[in-house]
Amino acid sequence: MTNVVIFGAPGSGKGTQSELIIKKYGFDHISTGDVLRAEMKNETELGKIAKDYIAKGALVPDDLIINMLANVLDSKKNSKGVIFDGFPRTIPQGEALNKMLAERGCKVDVVLSLEVDDAELMDRLIKRGQISGRSDDNAETIKSRLEVYHGQTSPLKQFYIEQGILASIKGTGSIEEIFERVSKAIDACK
Ligand code: AMP
Repeated sequence: MTNVVIFGAPGSGKGTQSELIIKKYGFDHISTGDVLRAEMKNETELGKIAKDYIAKGALVPDDLIINMLANVLDSKKNSKGVIFDGFPRTIPQGEALNKMLAERGCKVDVVLSLEVDDAELMDRLIKRGQISGRSDDNAETIKSRLEVYHGQTSPLKQFYIEQGILASIKGTGSIEEIFERVSKAIDACK
């Protein structure tokens, strides 16, 4: 089983590139943001707790996310590959993922880090907000999400560089061009 983390700031193209990876490689996709939005829609306990964090652009606490991920992961046992999208977002989540995968006899094979500068991210997210209807795609929340990314999530790059599995990918250009870079990095890790 190939385990791919797709990593980057909000708006860096993780969702778009994940869709193309699913199509080409037949991998399963775990997006913690999508799981949380479904929990909110179904008004579960977790959904109710997550709602305020998401509206503010803050991260949902690690223990809740790690538990949620462990449950989803067990439903993907027979996959030929899994894409982790939007997870991990903190060092404790990165450590928890390594542990969870090791317990299942596998590991993170590659971390695709989509590099896009803040001005472009802001621009993309404002545009997405006009069509997505997402409660957190508004100027104020986007600013907080970018701050959270730089403060809490980007240190994971160093974490993965030290493990020798970070593939830094230029996240600008056409979707197809970016996907070519993504495919090369996946093919190199398999
Ligand atoms: P996303 O769809 O990945 O941009 O996630 C939307 C929001 O869900 C984030 O701004 C966080 O509030 C929450 N969220 C998603 N994934 C995580 C995670 N791994 N850890 C903590 N919060 C998360």
